[in-house]
Amino acid sequence: MRPPGADTVLVRHADVGVKSGKVQAEMERRLRDNIEAIVRDRGIDAEVERRWSRILLHADADSVDAATDAAADTFGVRSASAAVVVPPERDAIVDALARTAREHRDSVGDTFAVRARRAGTTDAHPFTSEDLEREGGAAVFEELSDPEVDLNDPDTTFSVECRKDEAFVFTGKRDGPGGLPLGSQAKVVALVSGGIDSPVAAWEVMKRGAPIVPVYLELGDYGGPDHEARAMETVRRLADYAPNYEMGVRKVPAGDVMDLLAEEVGPARMLVYRRFMYRVAEHVARETDATGIVTGEAIGQKSSQTARNLGATSRATHLPIHRPLLTMDKSAITERARRIGTFRDSTIPAGCNRIAPDYPETNATPEIVTNAQPDDIYERAERAAANATLVDI
Ligand code: ATP
Ligand code: MG
Repeated sequence: MRPPGADTVLVRHADVGVKSGKVQAEMERRLRDNIEAIVRDRGIDAEVERRWSRILLHADADSVDAATDAAADTFGVRSASAAVVVPPERDAIVDALARTAREHRDSVGDTFAVRARRAGTTDAHPFTSEDLEREGGAAVFEELSDPEVDLNDPDTTFSVECRKDEAFVFTGKRDGPGGLPLGSQAKVVALVSGGIDSPVAAWEVMKRGAPIVPVYLELGDYGGPDHEARAMETVRRLADYAPNYEMGVRKVPAGDVMDLLAEEVGPARMLVYRRFMYRVAEHVARETDATGIVTGEAIGQKSSQTARNLGATSRATHLPIHRPLLTMDKSAITERARRIGTFRDSTIPAGCNRIAPDYPETNATPEIVTNAQPDDIYERAERAAANATLVDI
């Protein structure tokens, strides 16, 4: 539901607003650029303008919904509304509210509210916000068949944001991801496996402003083309959120190490594999100026992810390992994967299921893993990282 004639998108930012003046201005510029990149990538006809502490998209009646969606898919955006712009005058505002109610008479629901706020120089107007709410409310009331006002939990909210030179009228908000503009933090290496969890974890750090350097370990007989295709596909989906960022995947050959671990290492095999993986990520981070590693691990999700095993494996690197899904249940992760578009039904069984030992170690100490691992495992990690190929997506 949007007002007739709506051609402008009002964008509200999320955590950008809690920054100090200079940092905020820089983040707003970045947010503007990122919204524009998504708008261009989707071929939407709209101009993006940074004004006050908001961002506006100037579109037209045909493109305003797509422009609203584009803004609501941008990291750092709290919400976006398609609005009609009218002169900041009582009659014009009330009339826009009435026309909106008339057009959507059948979908307003049982209850409504009118909310108005004036921003900027409020003494510019010869009316108060309450005046607008009262008169706008009466006008909307007239247009509906059997309406009831509910200020606490209305089915439909008609909103007015009145500025010095113009007023915006809109109904409803499309929620954005929140967070910070992509690029406002340092890069992080994202270990992506082709499973459900890792793309969600990568998306979470992107939401906080950190671009990712995707890394996929090619596991030879223990992985396979389906895994790789799936990993690339999820990264492609993540790249839709970041069209102005390089998202090529570093594909690291790890088949020979998997063979070695399957032959030589017993219950701690998966833990050695994880140390190897972190060390590969560390080398990629050094090359790409990334400052951490993000994985889709969650406490206890698999035997290699028991609280104790996470402790025994994490020390393979001095980089922080970010685990945004640490405390999440699988069902919640899956739900989020669907929402961000990285989930697909034909989820392939993970490669590591094929290499997992029958009786995996669940209670490892660092010593147990160190004693189990081949002496040259870290040299192998360094070599594997050096032999990575960059896959364009
Ligand atoms: P996902 O966690 O992505 O759904 P999964 O659950 O099958 O896949 P796990 O065994 O839980 O994978 O691995 C834990 C984490 O280790 C993954 O979330 C991912 O960050 C990383 N990882 C596992 N396998 C690979 C791989 N082949 N390449 C890159 N990263 C990997
Ligand atoms: Mg997992």
